[in-house]
Amino acid sequence: MIPVTKAYLPNKDKYKAYVDRIYESAWLTNNGSLLQELEQRLKEYLGVKHIILVANGSFALQLAYKALELKGEVITTPFSFAATTSTLVWEDLKPVFVDIDPNSFNINASLIEESITPETSAILPVHVFGNPCDVERIQQIAKAHNLKVIYDAAHAFGSEYKGSSVLNYGDISTLSFHATKLFHTIEGGAVITNDDELAKKVRLMTNFGISSPTEISSVGTNAKMNEFEAAMGLCVLDEIEEVKAGRQNVWQKYQAELPTEQLTFQSWNEHSQNNHAYAPVLFGSEVELLKAEANLKENGVLPRRYFYPSLDTLEYLNSNKVCAVSRSIASKILCLPIHPGLSGEDINIVVNSIVTN
Ligand SMILES: *Cc1c(COP(=O)(O)O)cnc(C)c1O
Repeated sequence: MIPVTKAYLPNKDKYKAYVDRIYESAWLTNNGSLLQELEQRLKEYLGVKHIILVANGSFALQLAYKALELKGEVITTPFSFAATTSTLVWEDLKPVFVDIDPNSFNINASLIEESITPETSAILPVHVFGNPCDVERIQQIAKAHNLKVIYDAAHAFGSEYKGSSVLNYGDISTLSFHATKLFHTIEGGAVITNDDELAKKVRLMTNFGISSPTEISSVGTNAKMNEFEAAMGLCVLDEIEEVKAGRQNVWQKYQAELPTEQLTFQSWNEHSQNNHAYAPVLFGSEVELLKAEANLKENGVLPRRYFYPSLDTLEYLNSNKVCAVSRSIASKILCLPIHPGLSGEDINIVVNSIVTN
């Protein structure tokens, strides 16, 4: 079987050495030394001012909404993973969908303003598959209407815009370090911000609002990352360049060998380079996609229909907004396997399953 995502397992002896350290200190969680080391290294690697490591990417989003004290409506994209919408609803915020651009697959910035109402408190775009949004336009709109901006940057590990981290845009950006993501800590995530006060607030909220052994200064939750997860992150970070090179290699082969008369690729932001977090391909129709998916499965390949369904169709939302572009893209897009462990033979199997379609 060739799965679409495969957790990257770094050098085992290195991980064991970290586990020995954890056993020696008997410090398993609560701002441990490995967590602090990982925060420091990620801050430097990504080129960001504040990074707060948390239990997962969904918590990172929820902490962002809480820290920014969002209320009412939040403008977001229907073309994303379920968590983008469900975290809003979980925090009693109303997702207001704005359709996507058919080429970048990101929220269509030129449609945002018409969806702003007196109830709108923020914009929550997603850098879909790591592709930077129209960050400058979104910044202008937010400023003009006094709105907060949170980027769900779960896919944008290492993505740059005009030469620096795309995570520096918006009031807050969030990452997911789930096992299937480009960089992972088994389960984990991060909140990124340039604002000192916001960083302090999020850090407090991550640990029950406890500011000192005798003081509880705000409402909070338990969103902490533990030392075993931080250790995994340190090991994966040591090997991240190989991981990225391996993924790039797979993507280049797909691009060279897949039939472009049958498929289209995502158009990447011209001020950025693909981080190869995913390998999405767009078919001409859902019928073609389903045929290819069946062929792939028959040959032992497990692709995923990322993202399907379009979130504006979720029944629990009772939304009457129809995002036609997102629905159309969602019905025709397939993410192919992209991980450093794929052999040339595996790639041929994937390509041939689509070509013989
Ligand atoms: C993975 C993902 C999340 C959720 O992250 P978890 O760490 O799994 O909670 C949120 N948004 C997007 C776009 C994702 O892909």
